[in-house]
Amino acid sequence: MIRFCARCDNTRWVCENHPDVPWLGNRACSCGGAGAPCPVCNRADGDDPEDVPDMPEGFVVESGRRTT
Ligand SMILES: [Zn+2]
Ligand SMILES: [Zn+2]
Repeated sequence: MIRFCARCDNTRWVCENHPDVPWLGNRACSCGGAGAPCPVCNRADGDDPEDVPDMPEGFVVESGRRTT
């Protein structure tokens, strides 16, 4: 069980350009990059299609990497 995620400061989002820097919170990355789900605590690679990353309200992820 994850108690505290140092990678994303428990915000569950990291900077896409700096995957070890939180994208939200007090230590949020200021590079202006897009956010990415924290690979440690916000993984969404399961088989359940409803297992999507938690997203900040109103936030839309630009995801064009996966081919269908
Ligand atoms: Zn960054
Ligand atoms: Zn995390």
